[in-house]
Amino acid sequence: MPGTREMEATAAATRGEAPVRAWHAAPPEAVLRELDASAGGLSPVEAKRRLEVLGPNALPRAARESAWALVLRQVNTPLIYVLLAAAGVALAMGKTVDGIVVLGVVVLNTLIGFVQEMRAGRAIEALIDMVPETATVLRMGERSVVPAPQLVPGDVVELRSGDKVPADLRLLSVRSLRVEEAALTGESVPAAKSVEALAEGAPLGDRVNMAYGGTLVTYGTGTGVVVATGAATELGRISSMLRETTHLETPLTRQLAVVGKWLTVGILATAALLMAVGMWRGYPLMDALLAAITMAVGAIPEGLPAIVTIALAIGVQRMAKRRAVIRRLPACETLGSTTVICSDKTGTLTRNEMTVQEAWTPRAAFRVSGVGYAPHGEFSRADGGGAAWKLPRDAQELLRAGALCSDAALHGEDGTWRVDGDPTEGALVVAARKAGMDVEALRREWPRLDGVPFESERQFMATLHAGPDGSRVVYLKGAPEVVVARCDFAGGGEDARAVLREVERMASAGMRVLAFAAGPAAGGEDTLAEADVEDGFVFLGLQGMIDPPRPEAMRSIAACHRAGITVKMITGDHRTTAAAIGRELGLLAPADRAVAGEELAALTDAELAEVVRRVNVFARVAPEHKLRLVRALQAQGEVVAMTGDGVNDAPALRQADIGVAMGITGTAVSKESADMVLVDDNFASIAAAVEEGRRVYDNLIKSLAFVLPTNLGLAVILLAAVAFFPMAGGSPLLPMTPTQILWINLVATVALALPLAFEAMEPDVMSRAPRRPDAPVLGGFVVARTAGVALLMAAGALGLFLYEYGVETARGVPAEVALREAQTMAVTTVILFQVFYLLNCRSLHDSVLRIGLWSNPAVYLGIAALLALQAALVYLPFMNAVFGTAPLNADALVKSVAVASTVLVAISLEKWWRSATATGQRGRGPARPGG
Ligand code: ATP
Repeated sequence: MPGTREMEATAAATRGEAPVRAWHAAPPEAVLRELDASAGGLSPVEAKRRLEVLGPNALPRAARESAWALVLRQVNTPLIYVLLAAAGVALAMGKTVDGIVVLGVVVLNTLIGFVQEMRAGRAIEALIDMVPETATVLRMGERSVVPAPQLVPGDVVELRSGDKVPADLRLLSVRSLRVEEAALTGESVPAAKSVEALAEGAPLGDRVNMAYGGTLVTYGTGTGVVVATGAATELGRISSMLRETTHLETPLTRQLAVVGKWLTVGILATAALLMAVGMWRGYPLMDALLAAITMAVGAIPEGLPAIVTIALAIGVQRMAKRRAVIRRLPACETLGSTTVICSDKTGTLTRNEMTVQEAWTPRAAFRVSGVGYAPHGEFSRADGGGAAWKLPRDAQELLRAGALCSDAALHGEDGTWRVDGDPTEGALVVAARKAGMDVEALRREWPRLDGVPFESERQFMATLHAGPDGSRVVYLKGAPEVVVARCDFAGGGEDARAVLREVERMASAGMRVLAFAAGPAAGGEDTLAEADVEDGFVFLGLQGMIDPPRPEAMRSIAACHRAGITVKMITGDHRTTAAAIGRELGLLAPADRAVAGEELAALTDAELAEVVRRVNVFARVAPEHKLRLVRALQAQGEVVAMTGDGVNDAPALRQADIGVAMGITGTAVSKESADMVLVDDNFASIAAAVEEGRRVYDNLIKSLAFVLPTNLGLAVILLAAVAFFPMAGGSPLLPMTPTQILWINLVATVALALPLAFEAMEPDVMSRAPRRPDAPVLGGFVVARTAGVALLMAAGALGLFLYEYGVETARGVPAEVALREAQTMAVTTVILFQVFYLLNCRSLHDSVLRIGLWSNPAVYLGIAALLALQAALVYLPFMNAVFGTAPLNADALVKSVAVASTVLVAISLEKWWRSATATGQRGRGPARPGG
């Protein structure tokens, strides 16, 4: 046989394909033999050796956008075209220095944009590694969780629902295994898997005994041996890409791009108008053209794209530091307008540190403490609870059922125990241990032959064991309603009701209650099917466990409430338990009740709309209810963040405006569908991300409110000059040259606007209503502010220019020298305007003093750098020559400072006036930025 395979491989190779074995055509034993592996897995040493030889199980990263493409993108903007035209005109007019300066600015601008985008791209790429992918492997029979890149051919991998298949596997065993292979075949209906060998010609989609890397396990469990890793997998062969590249694009950047286009069109139209006016006034053609280009250069907000990109990248990084990893960039923005957060309970709002508190059998009840068991309630009187007291047999069986019917393991010695596995099951194992049981020995004594794994929709789990005497027993554990329904009670319905009364009592104390039952195996067989666990069980008892709320979750919920965000808890737990925890967390008023999933199912859409508005705690919710809840909330205009961890949560996560997956307990499937992953599973991280999202948006608006007035101001300065200024000796008198305008628009604006992206949180960031998602970026606020500041800036600069030019020429200074001085004064005034206005912009609505004068050192660094540059522009002879400037005397400087500082006064008055009129109008409605 190997000969044939070898030939095939050669044939495939000559056809230009990578040699691939027809693994699906061989029986499992043959595959294992071929791979020199066994069903118990490789030895760690061998796995390491293979890893060294074959390399990691990772697909090559999608090639980043090439450096050239990135550079080209920087160049391909309207401003660059205008600048190149300006350089051309300058050179044509013989103004070589000007032409070179403009070209220099083009190069500088391209460089800055390039570096910034590259860094932002890296920051976002780094996020991918923050959510590691893992695989459960058997190595010499020992199960361990390893990073997926460490898998090698021959490794035996365990799969369970929710996993992403980590490499190409030939399946060795399956239990109701279903795999969704859309990533590979485009088929979205999950394929049922089996292990039997298939015909060699079976196409990829029909190879049901294979599980291919990158596909998703949606149901059941299975094991398989790795036959190919990394680029050798089917996925690696069809696409050499790890993930689609993360584009630096969000609704906001798209909106801004549209605004930018219209702005450019408007500016070009205005430039044409300006040229016409100039010519009408008798400007020479070249001068008119130059004036028009100068205006365009000043008016195009060139710094904006870089600022937006950087603000988003900074936001994403900050969120990651606060343990929320953004998977899709738009989420970074949407977070800021979130109005409802729907959160799981277990692990997110609570600690997921389950501890059994009470055990109950129909004959006895016990309280579990750190050291052991004591009789509890009415039983304590009957039993006395003395030192010689021993756990009765029925209680022992209850605890044994808990230990056997669970997958958790206990590690460690000397009181420092560590639980591996589901915390609910860990609690059961610990409870058995506290009763003095040696769980490992117990599991050897009662080996598990088969089982029906726990699934959220079923809410139970069953295991089949062989007893020491060769008998067979099935243990069942799960939600009390589900278990009780499968039990026969000696006393009939009354006994069942007694159990449920006890459940209610424990649940109302906030406990999660699990019920346990035992039954004989049907037909004494060694396998267990779902159909075998429908009825006929003997009820054993209950165990109640607590899972304390996270204190930080409580604080975050309170913070969300202040921020106008509704928090809803959606849990698979019992209604009474959910209500008790909900009250502790401050989600449920004492008189309110929780609504259960099955009640939701019975509601019409209209009724549901009413219920989702009113109710904040939903219990016994199945994944399909979650989807309906999200839709109902969205139909009412809410922006919904929804958490989920299970494989069946994926649709709800995709539907939500922000799907949030759990980094620790979440399944790979849920992470794939999410917009954001919580590294620590903690609700507080969602609230932190919302806060950061609001900050990102605030800072973007601040940058806009800072940048736009300068552009408009420069345009107004040029327009006014061309329209109204006197002509001086046949050529027009312009308050600024193109190179000076470039200086302001590119050097100063960028140096000052960038620090705003680092601006600290506004003090009210979490005490105002969420931003309306449809609120335009350039809201009335930004537009009004832009117009006001631009006019003030233009008036100040023009006024000082005319004053200085007038005074100097009157003193007999040659016109050309006077012009230089006056222009330098105009430029300096605009720059100082920006410096003062920047202080205003640090907070949109509050006084700078309130947000802390020194809270953002970057601003002062920016200002210091700019002042140094400006001093160079004014006083260095070289710069004087290049930019046509002239040194200013102290008197001129004082005048510039005085005029520029008016903006500080004006905006402070405006803020004061706004806050005076807005008091008492807070609350839900358009958030203030932009509104
Ligand atoms: P939340 O949705 O708040 O995170 P959860 O995810 O823990 O809660 P599920 O895991 O769906 O909720 O559990 C629902 C119910 O199933 C529990 O209330 C419990 O009764 C039962 N249950 C939970 N874990 C197990 C388990 N390992 N074995 C058997 N039954 C379980």
